[in-house]
Amino acid sequence: MNPLVGKTRVRLGWFKIIAPTAPKVGIVSLGCPKALVDSERILTKLYADGYEVSGTYDGADVVIVNTCGFLNSAKRESFDAIGEALDKNGRVIVTGCMGNDANAIRDVYPSVLAVSGPHQYEAVVEAVHSAVLPEVNSFQNLVPPEGLHLTPRHYAYLKISEGCNHRCSFCIIPHLRGKLASRPVDKILEEAERLVVAGTKEILVISQDTGAYGVDMKHASNLWRGEEVRSHIVDLVSALGELDVWIRLHYVYPYPHIDEIIPKMAEGRILPYLDIPFQHASSRVLKLMRRPANQGRVLERIKAWRNICPDLTIRSTFIVGFPGETEDEFSELLGWLEEAELDRVGCFKYEDVDGAEANFLSLPVDQEIKEERWERLMKTQRWISRKKMKAKIGQTMEVIVDDVIDDTIIGRTKGDAPEIDGTVTIKSG
Ligand code: SF4
Repeated sequence: MNPLVGKTRVRLGWFKIIAPTAPKVGIVSLGCPKALVDSERILTKLYADGYEVSGTYDGADVVIVNTCGFLNSAKRESFDAIGEALDKNGRVIVTGCMGNDANAIRDVYPSVLAVSGPHQYEAVVEAVHSAVLPEVNSFQNLVPPEGLHLTPRHYAYLKISEGCNHRCSFCIIPHLRGKLASRPVDKILEEAERLVVAGTKEILVISQDTGAYGVDMKHASNLWRGEEVRSHIVDLVSALGELDVWIRLHYVYPYPHIDEIIPKMAEGRILPYLDIPFQHASSRVLKLMRRPANQGRVLERIKAWRNICPDLTIRSTFIVGFPGETEDEFSELLGWLEEAELDRVGCFKYEDVDGAEANFLSLPVDQEIKEERWERLMKTQRWISRKKMKAKIGQTMEVIVDDVIDDTIIGRTKGDAPEIDGTVTIKSG
């Protein structure tokens, strides 16, 4: 057995009749939750076509590797995963962000069966059909209405759009995934309803730029439950808030209309949680990054948000060692963090990404300095986190249970997203 664990967590919680000869597909899903949703869509289509999912390399007739090409380190991991799948199974189909450069993959691994780019679901399905024919069985093709999911049953990612209209200088996502393309609001809400009916207790709203949802559609309306709903993040969030499950927002740019969402968090309609990738605090560095640069105003807004919704948890990510970042600019970032007192912080050391504009900026920062700045930023954040955690002592909090291991319950509070934030450990007895 060569389990695919660690890369995928396959959940098939639906009544099914498996033909003993049903061909089996393994999937290695790398990268962010957006890529995970792509993997889920591919598996759902394959399941409808009569394939089974294998959790091991040697149980699979063919293996799909859904790659991530966001950073060069992610590319290396993707190459390693393709090599491992070839080594352990031999019949490999490559898709995802790295599939945009098929030659680069074929140069290293000429034996891969097919290569396709991100969200080219049909091409992947066709490649699987060519590799191993589906077993058609009228009892078998029972796909759960909510589709197949690689997350545990009680939470699911809900992708509301593809692509991005920004052009951050360190990022090649718009090049890989194209411009913003939002899904119709009724389709998103119907998918969310199906998830809730199937037992999902927490929906994580994702996209590259959640706050921009619907801009490409000029915020056109659709009917849902007999009412017109605009394809606008504020309206979408209001409608999702009616579903009576935890709704968590990820990848939210702090556009002015985000202020309208905070009162809904205070009312308990959606989780008081905002994942905003600020990336830096120095206006010059932000300009070099080609991102909006008014972090002083953002600090005021954070204070105002917390006045409206004191339980608000803010998560963010930052990049240290961006080309040209001076010691003063880095100190400015630390000072900003101390004032903002964000609840959850992730930090990346800048690295070049093939094809990104930032590669051509002058004054690259030495690796040693990047490491040192990363340590200092994380130390500052640890100090902030400790202070914030201390303030929670004595409070009673609602927790969602992710797992029970012997006499230990592992859960999360409303301020903890799965995989990236903290957990709550409860010992019974
Ligand atoms: S907002 Fe910037 S970093 Fe995020 S996907 Fe768009 S271009 Fe990339």
